[in-house]
Amino acid sequence: MSEQRQCPVGATPERSDRPPHHAVAGIGAGPANLSLAALGEKVVPGGVHLYERRPAPAWHPGQLSEGSKLQTSWVKDLVTLVDPTNRLSFLNYLVSSGRLYSFFNAQYAEIPRLEFARYLAWAAGELGTIHCSTPVECVSYADDGSGGGRFVLSGPEGVVATADHVVLGLGTRPRVPACFEDLQGARGLVLAERLQTRLSGAAVLPYQPALVVGGGQTGAECVLMLIRHGFRDVRWIGRRNWFAPMDDSPSANDFFRPTYLRFFHGLPEEVRRRYVAQQQLTSDGISLATLQEVYQLNYETYLREGRHPVMLLPGRDVVRASRRDGQIALWCERDWGGRERHAAPLVVLATGREPAGLPLAPGLAALMESDESGRPLLEADYSVRWKNAERNRLYLQNRSRIGHGIADPNLSLLAVRSATILNSVLERTAYVVRDEHVSTAWA
Ligand SMILES: Cc1cc2nc3c(=O)[nH]c(=O)nc-3n(C[C@H](O)[C@H](O)[C@H](O)COP(=O)(O)OP(=O)(O)OC[C@H]3O[C@@H](n4cnc5c(N)ncnc54)[C@H](O)[C@@H]3O)c2cc1C
Repeated sequence: MSEQRQCPVGATPERSDRPPHHAVAGIGAGPANLSLAALGEKVVPGGVHLYERRPAPAWHPGQLSEGSKLQTSWVKDLVTLVDPTNRLSFLNYLVSSGRLYSFFNAQYAEIPRLEFARYLAWAAGELGTIHCSTPVECVSYADDGSGGGRFVLSGPEGVVATADHVVLGLGTRPRVPACFEDLQGARGLVLAERLQTRLSGAAVLPYQPALVVGGGQTGAECVLMLIRHGFRDVRWIGRRNWFAPMDDSPSANDFFRPTYLRFFHGLPEEVRRRYVAQQQLTSDGISLATLQEVYQLNYETYLREGRHPVMLLPGRDVVRASRRDGQIALWCERDWGGRERHAAPLVVLATGREPAGLPLAPGLAALMESDESGRPLLEADYSVRWKNAERNRLYLQNRSRIGHGIADPNLSLLAVRSATILNSVLERTAYVVRDEHVSTAWA
């Protein structure tokens, strides 16, 4: 399936009441582009301007529930890995907010996701180059006919800006398996990111069943949220034959370093695909602490109430879903053979995320090189291979897991990726990425 989204009919890039022109503009103000803007502040004349559709920058706002933790060290913030003296470090945020001592004395092994979201919002406010409530629906290219050109960013009301170089940091959207497509919007079917809102204020009949589909971190967090909310019959369905923890070992963390990234990018595609599949649990597994919490809640509730509130159902692939008599019924193909049916008035989908559509004008998309699935081909510096890349570059953040490795969608190497993009834009080494002391010989 192509990842390109059609620009809306009627977007008129030429209508202009003098939109601003930037050397570098970004679309989306999630952590990826915020890192770019934070590091860009010192080195890009005029700074990096970001256009964000939300009314204020937010980081997965529906998934900051009580107890949810960052799976990455806070040292891997927007800037520190390449520029530890940058004013937008997490440490400076802590000092500026007056919470430094309280934070350290709380002795977190993993910090609250809420705190990281607050840090990102603080950094966005400090930057002063973030334009909120400004969706970009179309990126087109205006060739001036004399060897120059610029990108044109348009929203629902016309052109919002032009830029020499553009960085798309659009993030992801929930993935809805095909068997649920007809049920979207149906009462009782809830996306994980909306569960918190759905539950707030809702009365719970404790022994009314709830089904959570998806055996990853988000699924585990939904299970915990339901239990905390009073549910006592939660059935958790996962495709793997166990609810797999994230591998956070030293050798797994070797995949999250610049030297490995360079090695990986030079491998043939077939090998890269195989490695990404093999390495999946270094990124997509469940935090050990979250998994322990599920098991401990199950154990303790059994002690108190004589019943496990969570039934774990691994090795099941949901292949059909339908709604009848106020219940959603799911048919699961079992790993070891046969099918089974589960039904509940509430079904939560925690079935992963996929890249957001690219808002590229057809004329621009036609000038780009793509792979067999229609995905734009990216260079080592994250720029798209396209006709005028020598003079105007278009970069994509967070959509190159096969090209750049398992770390690409994560926070771990945000600053390194931003430094790589900025060095490419500026055509000089504005930021040095250092990682010399490597004891693993991958090649
Ligand atoms: C619940 C959750 C927890 C996670 N926790 C971790 C973790 O602990 N550690 C880790 O390494 N990774 C984690 N991840 C992975 C996650 O992908 C990254 O954390 C991060 O959010 C990716 O940043 P991003 O900037 O690419 O995308 P996003 O954070 O999704 O930001 C994209 C932004 O672009 C905006 N946007 C999209 N389209 C447009 C448009 N057309 N015009 C204007 N604006 C637009 C969106 O509104 C959004 O603000 C987590 C993911 C989820 C879902």
